[in-house]
Amino acid sequence: MILFVGAGPGDVELITVKGMKALQEADCVIYAGSLVNPKLIDTYCKEDVIIYNSAKMDLDEVIEVMVEMEKDNKKVVRLHTGDPSIYGAIREQMDRLIEHKIEFDVIPGVSSFVAAASRLKEEFTLPDVSQTIIITRLPGRTGHGEGGQLEELAKHRASMAIFLSVQSIGEVMVKLRKSYEARTPVAVVYKATWDDEKIVRGTLEDIEKKVEEASITRFAQILIGDFMSDKYSLSKLYDKGFSHMYRTAVSSEER
Ligand code: SAH
Repeated sequence: MILFVGAGPGDVELITVKGMKALQEADCVIYAGSLVNPKLIDTYCKEDVIIYNSAKMDLDEVIEVMVEMEKDNKKVVRLHTGDPSIYGAIREQMDRLIEHKIEFDVIPGVSSFVAAASRLKEEFTLPDVSQTIIITRLPGRTGHGEGGQLEELAKHRASMAIFLSVQSIGEVMVKLRKSYEARTPVAVVYKATWDDEKIVRGTLEDIEKKVEEASITRFAQILIGDFMSDKYSLSKLYDKGFSHMYRTAVSSEER
């Protein structure tokens, strides 16, 4: 049995209880090098756990380790940063395991875009501001044939979380400025929840300079949108005058 486990954003306490238990029981952990906090393995794994860093391996090598471990009935955890379903490249691994008739399961994790929002103490969805979050990235070296897409997505003026793109923050801002106003808030969160986390706040106009000054060139979330400004409407859900399934409205005299 192979378990794909979301490691969470970095803080060792931000893995799920299920994920933690999987690490405690693992005979072998294959972790995604640079962005999985190695402290997770030190904190939760058995002393004699076999560890592989997948940053140094190709897909064939990863699958080979899984197949060999499975032959010996060893429990394998494939540890991915954040949540495995977002830019985790797990699909290709799962398909290969199906070919090998090896059972697997997936345990979700706290994705870095929600971890970043928590560190900023912000809410992505606000009444009369945005009820939509777009998760995207610039096309990278891994090429996924979606060039120009960011300009299209910007037209929605939704709340946005951009992964894997801080190295080209200038290019991101140019594309977004075609639809968002220049004063729209932007926050860059480097290594959210790690000990060396950095937070930079600005606008579409000045964030590039601030990110440069903070020497952030990788491992960061770029969050964009008016959800980080001061204006919004109060939610109906907690409004005294609004009834819903679990609560009846009070009349204005009662308030
Ligand atoms: N599956 C992961 C994303 C993997 S892609 C998730 O759900 O978060 C790697 C990118 O994720 C990084 O380049 C960065 O943009 C973002 N990222 C991952 N961990 C992060 C963290 N702790 N803080 C900020 N960004 C992070």
